[in-house]
Amino acid sequence: MAQLSDLPIRDDLRGQTPYGAPQKAVRVALNVNENSHPIPADVAVDIVESLAAAILSVNRYPDREFTELRESLAAYLNFSVEPATRLTADNIWAANGSNEVLQQILQAFGGPGRSVLGFPPTYSMHSIIANGTGTRWIAGERDADYELSPETVTRWIEETQPDVVFLCSPNNPTGTPLSIETIEAAYAASSGIVVVDEAYAEFAPEDVRSAVTLLDGRDRLLVSRTMSKAFAFAGARVGYLAADPAVTDALRLVRLPYHLSALTQAAAIAALRHAPEMLAMVDNIRDQRDRLLVELPKLGYPVLNSWANFVMFGGVADSHALFEALLEQDILVRDVGIPNHIRVTAGTEAETTAFLAALAAL
Ligand code: PMP
Repeated sequence: MAQLSDLPIRDDLRGQTPYGAPQKAVRVALNVNENSHPIPADVAVDIVESLAAAILSVNRYPDREFTELRESLAAYLNFSVEPATRLTADNIWAANGSNEVLQQILQAFGGPGRSVLGFPPTYSMHSIIANGTGTRWIAGERDADYELSPETVTRWIEETQPDVVFLCSPNNPTGTPLSIETIEAAYAASSGIVVVDEAYAEFAPEDVRSAVTLLDGRDRLLVSRTMSKAFAFAGARVGYLAADPAVTDALRLVRLPYHLSALTQAAAIAALRHAPEMLAMVDNIRDQRDRLLVELPKLGYPVLNSWANFVMFGGVADSHALFEALLEQDILVRDVGIPNHIRVTAGTEAETTAFLAALAAL
């Protein structure tokens, strides 16, 4: 059997490591920021009925333009974002998870000879997708407590002149907020594409403004979202983007034809018909997140502020040892490689209780 290094793989992929969050069957999985709540039974029935109808015509290719899905996503954003937006299907793009959306963005706007600026520690796929698309990754630096001020973002953009800027709001793995002023400053300082990854936007406090509200008049601003988190749809793989219609024309140049299967489209459209019900668990998850923010410090673990469905805590003597000790209790958390820190997803009330109890007992 050949080794990977024996193969004539691209030089820039040699020595790289793939995305690798452990996937283990455990009692309490709090490691990849999923929504722990299954989708409501009545929504599941409606989705299955839609899938049953769609399967009867899978001999045909699906709608390559996924028009109905784009209309549903535009309606969802107009309904959920404040102050209200007036997006249409022309503003929306979608793919198999927001990871694929981000990859298509770099295929269209990055690539060999181009660069993307991000601010680690941030979502690990941002640099992996940069590598995969041959885009040079520029690692900017954050301010204290992993925050990112308008001044810092402006300085990095002016100094490095990237073709694309990736901002993560709120940031993964730290959970820390990104202010609307920082996004405005990044856009003003840049002459390239500015992407705001809002995978966790629905978990932010009520009065927080989404970057979607900044789109009007900013044709280089792209806001990516996902149904994986707040919508409890991680297994279905649906991510999307809101931007100027010209951006979707650019993405059409790099997408594979029919990239969203008829089954994916049918499932997502059905789920979006039940948006309020699908999102009913968000408040509950926020409560568990807030509980972690309060309870972890009481156990001696300082936390970073979080607007997401997870919390990063410090004060851990040995991150790997804590990861292993919790795994022994059948609880999976995430060691993201930041020394003395561990990230934990807010689970159901019972899961969060199990995690806090196990931690307290260590
Ligand atoms: N962006 C961020 C910040 C994430 O944390 C994740 C998932 N962990 C994604 C994008 C990708 O999610 P998906 O591909 O499931 O939409």
